[in-house]
Amino acid sequence: MNNISTDCPVCKGRNTLEMTSKTEEIPYFGEILESTIICSECGYRHTDTICLEQKEPVYYSLLISKANINARVVKSQTATLSIPDLGLKVEPGPKSQGYVSNVEGVLNRFESAVETAIEWAEEPEVKENAIKIIEKIEDIKSGDGSATLIIEDPFGHSVILHDDAKHRKLSQEEVENLNTGFVTIDQ
Ligand SMILES: [Zn+2]
Repeated sequence: MNNISTDCPVCKGRNTLEMTSKTEEIPYFGEILESTIICSECGYRHTDTICLEQKEPVYYSLLISKANINARVVKSQTATLSIPDLGLKVEPGPKSQGYVSNVEGVLNRFESAVETAIEWAEEPEVKENAIKIIEKIEDIKSGDGSATLIIEDPFGHSVILHDDAKHRKLSQEEVENLNTGFVTIDQ
């Protein structure tokens, strides 16, 4: 546990920001470092979680079928999820969270993201394309269609638990092209 005092970005209070850090062991994810920043003046609060244990960078791919739609998926905070067949990709950002789900759950998450995109889309072509993607996701969920789900994790904390899933180590070049979603705080 260590404390660092610094100025608040919200209320501009002098040395009002306190950062506390602690490590914790999380199943599937390994050891994590949780940092919390709290401003004693305005109450501004921000929590960041970073995986500490570095494992080998991994690439998982799964051709989704009725037989493996319930396969367990562990997606860490630093993983990039994509379904290239549908042109879908989720990259880690500052608000990314790790979660444990199954393939269907991952498809549902993609589906709701596309639904949000439909609501915000102004161009009719974008809307039409998004509706087609939703239809394809529905087909995959009902077993009438298929697509490949890919998880790339530079810290190796993600997994697709199924015999159909293929995995290999990510190359250094692939790792460098991935977004890790880490926020750096300038001191
Ligand atoms: Zn403040």
